[in-house]
This record gives sequence, structure tokens and C-alpha cells, in this order.
Amino acid sequence: MKTEAALLVQTGTPLILTEIEIPALKPGQVLVEITYSGVCGTQVMEWRGDKGEDKWVPHCLGHEGTGVVLETGSAVTKVKADDKVVLSWIKGTGIEAGGAVYAWDGRKVNAGGVTTFQRHAVVSENRLTVLPGNLPMDVAVLLGCAAPTGMGAIYNVLKAQPGDAVAVFGTGGIGLNALMAAVLVGAMPVIGIDPNPTRRALAKIYGATHVIDPSEIDVIGEIKKIVPQGVDLAVESSGVAAVMEQAINATRQQGGRAVVIGNAKHGDILSLNPSVFNQGKSLLGTWGGDSVPDRDYGRFARLLSSGRFPVRDLLSKPYSLEEADQALQDLASGKIGRPLIEMSLRRSG
Ligand SMILES: [Zn+2]
Repeated sequence: MKTEAALLVQTGTPLILTEIEIPALKPGQVLVEITYSGVCGTQVMEWRGDKGEDKWVPHCLGHEGTGVVLETGSAVTKVKADDKVVLSWIKGTGIEAGGAVYAWDGRKVNAGGVTTFQRHAVVSENRLTVLPGNLPMDVAVLLGCAAPTGMGAIYNVLKAQPGDAVAVFGTGGIGLNALMAAVLVGAMPVIGIDPNPTRRALAKIYGATHVIDPSEIDVIGEIKKIVPQGVDLAVESSGVAAVMEQAINATRQQGGRAVVIGNAKHGDILSLNPSVFNQGKSLLGTWGGDSVPDRDYGRFARLLSSGRFPVRDLLSKPYSLEEADQALQDLASGKIGRPLIEMSLRRSG
């Protein structure tokens, strides 16, 4: 069986939309018909070659999506045919079956345990979660990466408490989910920092008490006007090393904590005045907001469907798979917060 995929054949060049041959399922693998794919900053970095030399090309892309199970390989117990599922790069229970290898034009096409820029994908059982509740398939895409990473940073990593002062640096898809989680827990104030006016406007809609344009003013000075001692907690989701430094500097002495989510460019170096550690501040890392899909996706789904936030507005008007390059470009330029690719759409004008 063949399927259509938007492949990265060479970094820094447009994706190639082409048919690839789907391999036979190995134990622990699942064939999923993709309904929606999200587009994340990670794919922009892969596409542009920001992560350095890419030894996997040609390869499939995408790590958050929703779909329907068509077929399961042997030993798969977590999902069955016709299940609606969330596809996520974050590993849950189930078999780690490794990446699939597709065939195209006499060449091998690599793929990780989960990929989503294609109409059908071979996915490792542990990257699938049965769609929780009645969450619509488009909004549920956020459960693949943006929601567990952003919400998990607040709940699992920082363990925010009511009344904590929180700053979120970078209010794209992940940052907005962090911001929403902070607002829901009763954090106060909640400050969103982003150079992009669209993303600042979204931060306001999602409950930020203050927004700051870092291209206009001194961010730390502005934060100290709001919270003189510095914020209790900071989330960095911009991927810019200088912003990671700002995030730790924005926290208060004796207990301030900042978590870095953003992926920096290959070769970037973070420079930090080491006195921040003597002041009792902590700089933390995280792997997908320390989220555990089987434990957390149900509760994150309830928060997304609470109706308290216009979560659909966080996603773009859907692109077709043919427009995957455009989606990457619009995310890279900041025009769109979280591009959504809808597989049933065909480019017809
Ligand atoms: Zn992602």
C-alpha cells in the first residue's frame, strides 16, 4: 500500500509531496490514517537545518496529530482498529517498536516512532493514546505536543500554586498552553512576553494579566515594575539562548525557578552569570513537560474542553498536506500560532 507524504529530502529546501510505500507492520507497530497533523517549531528547525547536519534524510516529519487506527501489528494491545487516537512524540505505555522505513523512488525513507505529515503513518504503539473524551479531532492535536509540554511545565515541572507570579517567555502554541495552565491554577500575575503582536493578543485572550513586547523595552525592568522581587516561576519557550538567560534573571531570589522548553539552534551557547545559583534560583530542563501520556492526557483534554479558553483559536485555519511548506513558513514568520494540517483537504484553490 502506498500513501502520500510531505518529505524532507534536503534541509533548507521545500518539502517534496510524493507517494511512499508503506512497509509491513512489525510487532508493536500500528498503521494510522492521519486526520489532522499539528506543526511545531521542531519541524521548522528540521526543515531549515537549524539542528545541524541531518543524517536521516530523506525522512518523514511531524510529531503531533490525530487519526484512526487501520491495522495493528502483532503484540499491540493498547489500541485496536477503528480507535480514534492521539499521536504524540512523548512516549507512553506500550511497545517501543522503533521507526518505520518507507520506500520511495528506489530509496529508503526514514521515520521516527511517530510521524504525521502524511496521510497514513506507521506508528510505534507507545506514541499512541486513545482519544480522551469527546475532544474534537482538530483540538486534540494539541495533546500531541503543545498541551503536554506547556501544561506539564506548569503542573509537573514547576508545580505552580495559586498566587504564584508566573512569566511565560514566548507565547506560541506551547507557551500559550503553559499560560492557560498557570491561569487555571490561580497564578497571579501571569505575564506573557512575545515580540509578535498576534501572539501577545492571544496571550491576553488566554488570561495573561500583562503582556510585554521585548523588542520595545527592557523586559526584566518591566517585569520588576509588576512584581518588584521577580516572578516565582518562569517558562521559556522561545528557543533563544538570550531569552533563557532572561527567564532565570526574571525570577526572584531564594526559590525562583525557570524551566527551559525551547530548542536552541545547533551551536548556540547559553551564557549565564553563575551568581543566579548562589541567589537560590534554579534553572530546569524538561522532556515534554515531564508529561506521561497515559496519566496526563485525560486531564489535559478536560482542561482543553473546559470551554474557558477559545482553544480552537490557537490553531490556524487548516492547511492541506500540499500546503505543508506554507504552514512551516507561516509558523516560522510568526504569522500563525499553531498551524493545523487537515488531511481531507485537497488543494483546489
Ligand atoms: Zn512539538
